[in-house]
Amino acid sequence: MSSPTGGDPRPEIHRTAQGDWVVVGRRCRACAEPVAYAWPRCPACAAAVEAAHFGPRGTVWSSTVVRIAVPGHTPPYSLAYVDLDDGPRVLAHVAGDEPAPIGRPAWLVGTSDAGDLQVEVDR
Ligand SMILES: [Zn+2]
Repeated sequence: MSSPTGGDPRPEIHRTAQGDWVVVGRRCRACAEPVAYAWPRCPACAAAVEAAHFGPRGTVWSSTVVRIAVPGHTPPYSLAYVDLDDGPRVLAHVAGDEPAPIGRPAWLVGTSDAGDLQVEVDR
């Protein structure tokens, strides 16, 4: 289950008939704000929203390498915020243990066994 109603806070993703992974979110009918979650109203202007899919491509906005142990994850591992094309910013795991270069193209490649959103980055 997606936020903000509780449960798993990670975005829900879906594989299209063309084989692309996309985030299942919402777009505001009034101001076009993209949201990575199934929010009932626009978080920017409170207008009505409609279902929208975002991705699979985007751009790395920021990245880091996690070097501390977290349950279910073995450090080191790389995380990145990715601005999906014409869509929201999402947090995703990146293959490898190097930070993803900021500004580089990235694309959704599904989820890990632990259910984390994953991207590959064109380094
Ligand atoms: Zn809005």
